[in-house]
This record gives sequence, structure tokens and C-alpha cells, in this order.
Amino acid sequence: MAKLTTRAEDYSKWYNELVVKANLAENSGVRGCMVIKPYGYAIWEKLQAELDKRFKETGHQNAYFPLFVPKSLFEAEEKNAEGFAKECAVVTHYRLKNDPDNEGKLMVDPEAKLEEELIVRPTSEAIIWSTYKNWIQSYRDLPILINQWANVVRWEMRTRLFLRTAEFLWQEGHTAHATKQEAEAEAVQMQEVYRDVVEGFMAIPVVKGYKTPSERFAGADETYTIEALMQDGKALQAGTSHFLGQNFAKAFDVKFTTNEGKQEYVWATSWGVSTRLMGALIMTHSDDLGLVLPPKLAPIQVAIVPIYKTAEQLEEIRQVVDKIQSELKAKGITVKFDDDDKTKPGWKFAEYELKGVPVRMAIGPKDLEKGHVEVARRDTLEKQFIALDEVVDRTESLLEEIQENLYQKAFDYRADHTTEVSTWDEFKEVLEAKGGFISALWDGTEETEEAVKDATKATIRCIPQAFEIPTEGVDMFSGKPAKYRVLYAKAY
Ligand code: AMP
Repeated sequence: MAKLTTRAEDYSKWYNELVVKANLAENSGVRGCMVIKPYGYAIWEKLQAELDKRFKETGHQNAYFPLFVPKSLFEAEEKNAEGFAKECAVVTHYRLKNDPDNEGKLMVDPEAKLEEELIVRPTSEAIIWSTYKNWIQSYRDLPILINQWANVVRWEMRTRLFLRTAEFLWQEGHTAHATKQEAEAEAVQMQEVYRDVVEGFMAIPVVKGYKTPSERFAGADETYTIEALMQDGKALQAGTSHFLGQNFAKAFDVKFTTNEGKQEYVWATSWGVSTRLMGALIMTHSDDLGLVLPPKLAPIQVAIVPIYKTAEQLEEIRQVVDKIQSELKAKGITVKFDDDDKTKPGWKFAEYELKGVPVRMAIGPKDLEKGHVEVARRDTLEKQFIALDEVVDRTESLLEEIQENLYQKAFDYRADHTTEVSTWDEFKEVLEAKGGFISALWDGTEETEEAVKDATKATIRCIPQAFEIPTEGVDMFSGKPAKYRVLYAKAY
């Protein structure tokens, strides 16, 4: 197996090769659209299951809305429509026919033109709020707490497997509330759910913050975000939760009767995370040998490789492994005993390294004699011998340790790559020398935000919720009085 390009050689090439070689996904014949392969999909499914559980624990139900949005509905909320207009796929016809002038090849049938064009959803607020209009009459109908698992299409010009694709898989929550406070609390709650899953399950530390007006979701009054830092010092928006105010209720005329008999517009939120999280996972933990998976997300948590020459030896190993395997399974640990005789142990070791399997065991006749097994952990690549009667318990705690270690390592990296600056020269220097998050004071104007972006490509990732509003100090670029302390970074 050819080695991966190293991260130091070319980070971006390393990423692309890794995604393909670890069998996560590949490019398809459709520009910007990927094929997610079974191994990649298995990881996505584990993440989905965890998110889905959290959504249900917080009172949400799943539903499904159409892929197509009639143009008139799409247009109703002007800011949202304007924001997404540049990246919409549009269905104009519903039939093909044979072209007599071109050897009978298929062509669009001009007679099958749709009366109203259909937009392939880039997000579903429009179709959902046109539906909620029929569901909501009184305060008794509220809140509506719905999530949908779906695909969406945004005609992105520069795409990259998982991180930015033209079609992507995601979930989108769409909730309707009687009061502003309740909707705001919902948006903040879902941002916290995302933080908890991304940090606790994916072992990726994130910063919670809100977006500046120019980076806000089109049609939102506030966008809450979780921002992660990748190993190359670039930031990645890992999830967003929007407080939509009454914008969609007004656009679709969704009113309810309050318990005092008054008519009021409904308050809304929407929130989403996508297959981009797979990109975050890869870019946060993996190394030059391949993928490194946090145990909680690994489709195979433990791989056991037998080392043998004869069928009798394999049988002896199998007997010992059977017991280990069933005890590990009883603890809810996913184990694969790889007795495939078409490949050699060395090849298997490399394969499990590439696939990011957290723990790999090797066991041969000598190990049986000595009553131990060789255990290798993927995160640190350390190997140790563990006595057979201890291996099950030790593996369980080792998996926990790996999960924690990955989080800690990413946390330390982020701490090392978060720099506070006070001057423009310092800012440029840090950005050039080590990248990462740069904490600086901002005057709150779009002009400054734009000017910094034009000069350096760094953008304001968020205004962290944990940062205090500055009472003194000046913007590092404009010298005007500061309104916020923000985090800048170059981002994916
Ligand atoms: P938004 O609806 O724009 O707030 O995006 C919801 C989620 O989808 C965010 O976590 C984004 O980072 C993610 N996302 C946005 N565009 C893409 C894309 N082209 N490919 C993959 N994920 C995306």
C-alpha cells in the first residue's frame, strides 16, 4: 500500500488522500457531489444516532418535508432567498424526449416545462414555514419541535470531500414558539447540544459564540455557532443554531391566538450540523499513518489479529480470542477478529492504522504460552503486553483513556494556537507564523471586518459567548473604540 502524503508535505493533499484511502468517501461523476462509502457512512451513522438521541431527549420529533421548494415560496422570505439565490439548483422541466436531430439522444422536452420552477432545497425554512402556517392557529399548537434528516443542495464552486460539497447530508431542526424568550432559549439549547456531542463524542473542542451580522444565516436575527480548530491552524464552523425572530412567520403569515385572545406572529429557530463534521473529525485527530478515531465513534473499536502458521495454531488462538471477544461484546465494545487468511498480519496492522481503529491486538503461539496479548493503541502508537485475564477490563479503560487523550491533545493544540493580540502588526505576524485563533478587539463595523478579510483572508469566526464585552480599548485595525472581543482565523 502506497504511503500517504504527510501533513508537513502537503496538508490538503494528505486530507484528500486519507479520505479516499481510508474508504470514507470519494468524488463522483457529479461535480462537487461525493459518494460516502460504507466505512465513512458507518461513522456518520454513529454520529447521527447520538445526535438523534439528544434531539429526542430535548423534546424534538423527526419528520420529513419535500426536496423541492416552489419558487414563490422560496422567495417569500427575502433575505433568506437573496442569501441562497447564488447557489440554487433549479428544476425547470419534468420530462426528456428523444432528439431526432441528434441520433435519438435524450433532450429536455420543451413542452414539459414546469409552470412554476422548483428550487432544490438549500435549506428548508420556506417549505416548512409554509406548512406550519396550516398547523398553527392557537397557543395550544405551540411549540412545534421538529427535526428532519435530509440532503440539501448548495451549488458551491470550490468543493472538498465532506468539508464543502454541493450536496450534503445534514439534520435541520425547525421550531416554532409563542415567545421570543422561548425561541432564543431553544437556539442556545441546541448550540449546547452540539457542543456536548462534538466535544464529548467526537473529542473535538469547540468555542461557542455568535456570528457577526455579515456571517449570519440569511434570514436569522442571531446565529449561534460552534467553531473548531483544525491541525493546520485553520478554523471550521462545526455547527450553527439560528434565532430567526419572526422573519419567517411574517413572510408566511403564520400567526397564533394567544391565551388572551390576541393575534401574534410565531417565533422561530433553525439549527443544523452536516457531513462537514466528518471533515472536522478527520482533520482534528488523524496523523500521517491515517485516520485516528475517538473510540465512541469508531465502527470497530478493537481489532484482533491472529499470528499463526498452522491451522492448529489458529484454532488455539481462536479459542482464547472467542472468550475475549464475547466478554468485550458484553461490555458493548465492537470487536473484529480478523482471521482472513488472504492478507498478512503486517498488512492488517497497516490497514487498521489507516482506518483509525482505536485498539489493535495481536496474538500468536508465543503469546499464548506466556498468557498475554500484545495491545497497540492507535492514538499514541504505544504497544504493551497485557495478561489474558486482565485484557478485557484493561481494554475497556484504555478506550476511555484514548477518548480523553484525543480530546486533551486537540484542546492543548488549540490552547497553543490561540493568541491574543492588540496591534495590527502583531495580528499579521501571528497569522503568518502560526495561524490558529487570534483574539482581538473589534469596533463592531462591517468595514473593518471586510478590510481585515481582504488584507489577510482571516475572518471573524465568532464573538465568543465567554468573552466579556470590552469597556475600554481600541480595534486592532481601525483604532476606533472597541465593541467586542472576537476570534479571527482563516477558515475552511
Ligand atoms: P447553515 O444552514 O448555513 O447554518 O449550515 C448548517 C450546517 O451545515 C453548518 O454546520 C455548516 O457548517 C454546514 N454546511 C454549510 N454548507 C455546507 C457545505 N457546502 N457542505 C457541508 N456542510 C455545510
